[in-house]
Amino acid sequence: MQKIEHIGIAVKNLEESNLRFAKLLNTTHYKTEKVSSEGVLTSFFQLGDMKIELLQAINESSPIHRFIESKGEGIHHIAFAVENVNAELKRLKDAGFDAIHDTPKQGADNKIIAFLHPKSTHGVLTEICSEQS
Ligand code: ZN
Repeated sequence: MQKIEHIGIAVKNLEESNLRFAKLLNTTHYKTEKVSSEGVLTSFFQLGDMKIELLQAINESSPIHRFIESKGEGIHHIAFAVENVNAELKRLKDAGFDAIHDTPKQGADNKIIAFLHPKSTHGVLTEICSEQS
């Protein structure tokens, strides 16, 4: 793991949240992106060398919809930058962590991503990601 790449925050309304986080962070989001495979609309704020990712569900089968239904808005996941998602996912699975996806997939912000199940990380939904090459 190299560093925290971003923190993902589940929100009900991306437009309102973009305004609120722009005030909080004193900077505006630099992109909005829909990830249809995950059923989310995302926006990103750059903060030093890390980011804040806001996630809004675009349909009721979205994991973000289910998350907000059960827990409300708030921190959804922490993403760590890694050199190679495939190699790191294998290392983590070998070390006993439960992967949500068996193979890495395309994520937002031009990243290859994989998630670890929070039950194997003390309740923290954990993403590993690397720049798509
Ligand atoms: Zn993320």
